Amino acid sequence: MAGPRVALLGVMLESNRFAPLATEADLESGCRLAGEPILTDARGDGQRLPAEARAFIRTMDATGHWEPVPIAITALYPAGPMAAGLFGDLRREIEAGLEAAGALAAAYVVLHGAMVAEGDDDPDGTILALVRRLLPRPACVVATLDLHANVSEAMVAAADLVVGYRTNPHVDQAARGEEAALALRLMLAGEAAPVTAFLRLPLTPPSVTLLTAEAPYGTLIDRGQRRLAEAGGRLLNVSIFGSFVFSDTSHNGIAVLVAARAPAHLAEARRLAADLATIAWDERQGFTRRLTSIPEAIALALAPDREPLIYSDAGDNPGGGGSGRTTELLAALVEAGAEGVLYGSFFEPDIAEAAHAAGIGAVLEVTFNSEGGTTFDQPFSAAAEVLALGDGKVTGRLGLYAGRRLVLGPTAALRIGGVTVVVISSRAQTADPVFFEMLGLDIGAARTVVVKSRGHFRAGFAPFFRADRVLEVDTAGLTSPVLERFTWQGLPRPVFPLDPETHWQPPDW
Ligand SMILES: [Zn+2]
Repeated sequence: MAGPRVALLGVMLESNRFAPLATEADLESGCRLAGEPILTDARGDGQRLPAEARAFIRTMDATGHWEPVPIAITALYPAGPMAAGLFGDLRREIEAGLEAAGALAAAYVVLHGAMVAEGDDDPDGTILALVRRLLPRPACVVATLDLHANVSEAMVAAADLVVGYRTNPHVDQAARGEEAALALRLMLAGEAAPVTAFLRLPLTPPSVTLLTAEAPYGTLIDRGQRRLAEAGGRLLNVSIFGSFVFSDTSHNGIAVLVAARAPAHLAEARRLAADLATIAWDERQGFTRRLTSIPEAIALALAPDREPLIYSDAGDNPGGGGSGRTTELLAALVEAGAEGVLYGSFFEPDIAEAAHAAGIGAVLEVTFNSEGGTTFDQPFSAAAEVLALGDGKVTGRLGLYAGRRLVLGPTAALRIGGVTVVVISSRAQTADPVFFEMLGLDIGAARTVVVKSRGHFRAGFAPFFRADRVLEVDTAGLTSPVLERFTWQGLPRPVFPLDPETHWQPPDW
């Protein structure tokens, strides 16, 4: 018995409008699978597929007969908009794969949901619309999206069900893939025919305010799940997307999606969507955040007799498209003479290579960020002693990267005054203690740890630093939470918090 034929496909990219284009070269560090290797990766020890896609496939395997039709799944590290040529290639690959697939009962589409392409502000919507065109109803289209997705009308119209992450830092990808598969089983069995109530607010929070351990966002997600549980099966899913402001599109904004299990329950889904959106709007001041200024951060770094602190270099998060090499805070710490500082990780392959050539104990003259690259970057030169060297092949230990193999390329620990700097050769956010531990650096002995990560480091470093020992420092860069620093072109205006007088009312459905 073959079971329903389900196409597997997707393109994942979180696009920061202000970062360099994502091109063919970015595929090397990402996931690029087509055809059978998708299944081999999911069912074996492969680690290339996004966790939700792996979980979707494994859950389908575990819950009955099916015939997977693996098309293509591509996932890139967060970057800028996708180059038009690359997006065209990926789109045509999906189109050709679906056209050649024969009759399909369903498609599972794995997307981030905050992609921008050159010439297309809604490529996620373009892909879902393409899938829907080739799989007309009653075929089922189910998609998973990152919590930071910017949800468009086109995406909601094309998919029967959209399932979003509910944790930030993200630790529930596998659970959401499983949830999507179980919902698809219900749909294929005729037990569910979801329709979605969708509201998007003119509210584009900086990412630092979207932690799900905190109010208002975490409380809102919890409330949505409680109401879902109380609905006794009449509703299928509640997803509340935080949006990724740096995509700078007209469909940016916190989005509430409530899927009714069947059209008869749409009114209930709409009431819940309106309730949740109204709460988010009423609590919009909670989606703003005062950061720690660089002078404050330096004063604290120098203060005697205090507990250890961890700083987020919030303006330069490679996980949000940041370059991973801005030097503003590093320069300030070195110039102030701060001691006992660990700072990771700078994406500087040239410096790592020079350190490996010179060897442990050597002192080099190094220039960080020598090429600049964005208006926020400045070079920083210093004498650096090579403390430790590594090959960057490590397995993540905690949080986002737990259990994942990381390939960071040649790495080094360099001492510059009282600051020990980690350099890596692959752009990655320092969300896990292994970025320091791989070079023998003792986080527990540091007075101040600084990470190029905006939020995901919290899950990785929680054993070392209580929440009140975490400070977000107001550094400039491509992921700065200070939205006034950017020249926005696509965002809907007025929008909160950029335009404090923005108004919104729930719709009269
Ligand atoms: Zn995300």
